[in-house]
Amino acid sequence: LASLLRGRELAALIEAGVLERVSRMDPPPALGVVLAGDDPASASYVRSKEKACARTGIRSVVVRLGSSASGREVVEAVAALDSEGVVDGILCQLPLPGRADPGLVASAIPPRKDVDGLNPVNVGRLWRGEDCIAPCTPAGIMRLLAHHGIEVRGRRAVVVGRSHIVGRPMAAMLIAADATVTVAHSRTPDLEAVCREADILVSAAGIPGLIRATHVREGAVVVDVGTSRTEKGLTGDVAFEEVEGIASGITPVPGGVGPLTIAMLLENTLKCRAARDSHSLHRPAPII
Ligand code: ADP
Repeated sequence: LASLLRGRELAALIEAGVLERVSRMDPPPALGVVLAGDDPASASYVRSKEKACARTGIRSVVVRLGSSASGREVVEAVAALDSEGVVDGILCQLPLPGRADPGLVASAIPPRKDVDGLNPVNVGRLWRGEDCIAPCTPAGIMRLLAHHGIEVRGRRAVVVGRSHIVGRPMAAMLIAADATVTVAHSRTPDLEAVCREADILVSAAGIPGLIRATHVREGAVVVDVGTSRTEKGLTGDVAFEEVEGIASGITPVPGGVGPLTIAMLLENTLKCRAARDSHSLHRPAPII
């Protein structure tokens, strides 16, 4: 049976480190969150982030906007958080309501305060393998793999999903760690065959039961990023009972990747704070 790659213990270790570092900071670091709309999942994610900040001594400031908020209003809320100069990091909880453009909002977050790593400056720096603030979920997955001694270098990785917050940055990080990477998505023919190539399979599609036993090579490591809310509670992309007999390692849902995402958000907030103190991050890089 696959070994269980649990995230909670590692997340607790990381949080302890954050708490210790925060205790030496005066004033404490602060995270600004813009929550627009009334999506219950978004509200619950923001609550988890507030709680994690409270546990580690980070101040959190949540700006709530109604479900009729436009992209422009979200951008204005970000600008206000920035100009008040109180918060070190800023994020907008996604999805945005209505037709608000998440790309415009990401561009409005100053790269030095961009704790979700979605500003094009951070995206570009990530793909270039430069110092940057990287999206929390894939950063947490890299930490989980390292913590369990799972070698990435030279191995075949398949990422299912090409979102800006998970799939794409996951591929960038796996490339930076010397994996051979394939990105599959909703238009990929024969997903099974593609996934069966993987030594490391990361699924971030948000479709319960998408990854079956037939998708998994014997001994592969399977990371389940899916978080679908069903009657049975939070459900991943992976048909766990089938796959755990084939994989060598598998993340549970819940308790796998989720807790690490939050832990990485706290670390990113400290990274923004440190950059603010030292002006180090995003010093212009040489052109050549
Ligand atoms: P997340 O934020 O967790 O990455 P999104 O809903 O934004 O989730 O993105 C889901 C991704 O999963 C998309 O990139 C989409 O192309 C991919 N996807 C959806 N359905 C399938 C499928 N049947 N096979 C492979 N990939 C899929």
